[in-house]
Amino acid sequence: MERLQILARYDWADGCCFRHPSKGEVPTAPVGLVLPPGNGGHEVRACVGCVIAMEDMKRESSRRATGNCQPTERRSSPSSAPPREV
Ligand SMILES: [Zn+2]
Repeated sequence: MERLQILARYDWADGCCFRHPSKGEVPTAPVGLVLPPGNGGHEVRACVGCVIAMEDMKRESSRRATGNCQPTERRSSPSSAPPREV
């Protein structure tokens, strides 16, 4: 799927990316809810790069789950690196 088609499926608004809070206000889309006990819901927002990275991971895992495709080696994907411990 094209990157623009992926991005068009999200509602974009300025906000703080959960992985890049140091960027400050950037275009972000809601990607989920964190539900801390007894504290209501907190919306998790992600920037363009993170949304694309998450969609890539989703496609990779659904591909593996269906088993229709051969596993592919992807050597150049720095954006899908696991989040660093802070
Ligand atoms: Zn981000």
